[in-house]
Amino acid sequence: MVSAPAGTGKTTLVRMLVGEFHNVVESISYTTRKPRGKEIAGKDYNFISMQEFEEKIKEGEFLEYAKVFDNYYGTSRKVVDAQLEKGKHVVLVIDTQGALQLKKDLDAIFIFISPPSLEELKSRLCRRSSESEEAIDYRLSWAEKEMSLKEKYDYHIVNDKLKAAYEVLRSILIAEEHKNR
Ligand code: ADP
Ligand code: 5GP
Repeated sequence: MVSAPAGTGKTTLVRMLVGEFHNVVESISYTTRKPRGKEIAGKDYNFISMQEFEEKIKEGEFLEYAKVFDNYYGTSRKVVDAQLEKGKHVVLVIDTQGALQLKKDLDAIFIFISPPSLEELKSRLCRRSSESEEAIDYRLSWAEKEMSLKEKYDYHIVNDKLKAAYEVLRSILIAEEHKNR
């Protein structure tokens, strides 16, 4: 389970992990948000309407879901179970509300990634240039709230230099795979 304020670099880090370790997959979430720039349906997210999302909630399809920035985001129970059955490690890249819902009843590793500073977070969000200035400000104010929850996670990585942050992330995976349980 990986959480980080939007723009911190969690997608970048998780994709590096999936690229290196063939037994690691990312869970593709459902969202009511519209696709951004280069995003691909079915790879980045399954993009659905508010009505479709609400139907899935009723049918109990979500392992967890949350409303983030006025849109719904949720993890499909079916998608996760299918990968777990294949023996894969499934990485959920989800917000703090979703992660803390799961913490109570899921045997998983919780990793929080934070930016080196809020100024750097702002510049990463601006560089990605996928959102309006208003959306960026909203994401920054939410980031401060999310950061206050980092102590509830098992691990905390600061994504300052990408290579160093990735070394920590892959080391956690390797250590956890060798842990006596
Ligand atoms: P998130 O998934 O957390 O929203 P992204 O992975 O999309 O974030 O990264 C946001 C932006 O920051 C991207 O343009 C990415 O290339 C850049 N980025 C990621 N990690 C670093 C880093 N350590 N240093 C500088 N830029 C980074
Ligand atoms: P973005 O719009 O930048 O892709 O994502 C916004 C936020 O929603 C991020 O914090 C991301 O981790 C979170 N998110 C993405 N998918 C899910 C999900 O399935 N469940 C929950 N709870 N949060 C999600």
